[in-house]
Amino acid sequence: MKSHYEVLVIGGGPAGLAAAAEASRVGLEVALVDEQAPGGQIYRNVSEAKNGAVNYLGRDYFRGQKLVNEFLNSGATFLNDASVWYLDERLETGLLIDGSSHFITAERLILATGAQERPMPLPGWHLPGVMTAGAGQILLKSAGIVPDGRLVLAGSGPLLLLLAWQYLQAGVKIEALVDTAPDSRFFEAISSLPRALAAVDYLFKGLTFMRAIRKARIPVYKNVYGLRAEGDESLESVCFNLTRSRAGNRIKVKIEADTLMLHQGVISNIRLPLAAGCNLVWDALQQNWKVRKDKWGQTSVKQVMVAGDCAGVVGARAAELQGRLCALQLGYELRAIGPGQRDRSAQQLNRSLNRHLSIRTFIDKLYAPGRAYQLPDDETLVCRCEEVNAGQVRQAVRMGCVGPNQVKAFTRCGMGPCQGCLCGSTVAALVADETGASMEQVGYFRVRPPFKPITLGELANT
Ligand SMILES: Cc1cc2nc3c(=O)[nH]c(=O)nc-3n(C[C@H](O)[C@H](O)[C@H](O)COP(=O)(O)OP(=O)(O)OC[C@H]3O[C@@H](n4cnc5c(N)ncnc54)[C@H](O)[C@@H]3O)c2cc1C
Repeated sequence: MKSHYEVLVIGGGPAGLAAAAEASRVGLEVALVDEQAPGGQIYRNVSEAKNGAVNYLGRDYFRGQKLVNEFLNSGATFLNDASVWYLDERLETGLLIDGSSHFITAERLILATGAQERPMPLPGWHLPGVMTAGAGQILLKSAGIVPDGRLVLAGSGPLLLLLAWQYLQAGVKIEALVDTAPDSRFFEAISSLPRALAAVDYLFKGLTFMRAIRKARIPVYKNVYGLRAEGDESLESVCFNLTRSRAGNRIKVKIEADTLMLHQGVISNIRLPLAAGCNLVWDALQQNWKVRKDKWGQTSVKQVMVAGDCAGVVGARAAELQGRLCALQLGYELRAIGPGQRDRSAQQLNRSLNRHLSIRTFIDKLYAPGRAYQLPDDETLVCRCEEVNAGQVRQAVRMGCVGPNQVKAFTRCGMGPCQGCLCGSTVAALVADETGASMEQVGYFRVRPPFKPITLGELANT
């Protein structure tokens, strides 16, 4: 490993892999860092997956192998099993590799750190047996592990439907699908359907998942509210209320369960862009902080570009195209290619990018996160690391805290090992709701290294 590269890409998902391969192709000296094998969230472990897995992971997953191969054959250096635990505004990057710490620099940085699942705080979400749908999918992709016993999937979003489909293909029995998105969402989204038809393949995919769920006769509960997980030592049941809209009466439902998987969409992983000093912008439709960038991925910091879901949730195919656009622009700026070559290649990429993005507004409206799971009841834990509930956050605001950082100082919310990953968006939403300020005014937790847990021994071992 060298201590300086022309281009350093952080994140080996579709965006980072494509950016590194393309930058290498135009003649730049590139290194890509990831703490996982190349592939990112969607193509996780794809090089190791058995051929038979296509039956339950689907063809989209195996498409990733081509991209991983393109990257591996591109000549770019791959620093794998490397966690970025430090990044500052001088763009010095601290890596944790094999128990020791290394610092590297680069002329240009491409951040492609992807997305994480949006937290879904509800009563009992901390009980053993409750996990996120993404975590369930990670077990499936990385080790072929599926849940045993009675499984309930709850929340909303394409990933929940995809996981239900993948589990059904893998022979997993699903007790129930609990859909927290109200029916009204479809009517809110319908005006964006004509534009979404340009990416009709996504709509067909969604219909395929829904058809499989119906065919398997999985009970689907809609218009659900008051969702909670119950149990003494671990999950015993999933409870919620239903409104039968025509009659207007409410029905209480209790489903015995061993595993509950929750999901309500994904949000950008903004910690490294924040650490590098990039400006963010609040996307009210996605309910998501994203990095302010231009059409090439250039951020407010001259040496830093962003691509993929960390700069606003766009999906894997668009992330890949954005990665290539970043690389072309860097190739031009670092004088590896001329403007003509950049623009000719970019034209085709942009056409394709627009097609993949045409579905976004429809999806974002259809699966907008539920207010109840962004602004939980007082008793619900918000920060699981430090055991701070929503009531304590609200109380801190009433005592005069005007932003997440003050709430953090007074309650320790966000100071635990996850560094605010699981509570940051909820705390900001609670502060905004309690003060009546906008999300832009409220802001987000200040990020400070280490971004990943690192021991003093590892830190000293440079
Ligand atoms: C849990 C989860 C599962 C998903 N599954 C699917 C799916 O099955 N199908 C689908 O179509 N979409 C899925 N998505 C959405 C999809 O992953 C994204 O749209 C797409 O992968 C975005 O690509 P990306 O390159 O921007 O980021 P990602 O694919 O997320 O890649 C980001 C990479 O950055 C690395 N990284 C982040 N921070 C650091 C750090 N500090 N140090 C080192 N490395 C770091 C991560 O390890 C990761 O490999 C999923 C999203 C999530 C959150």
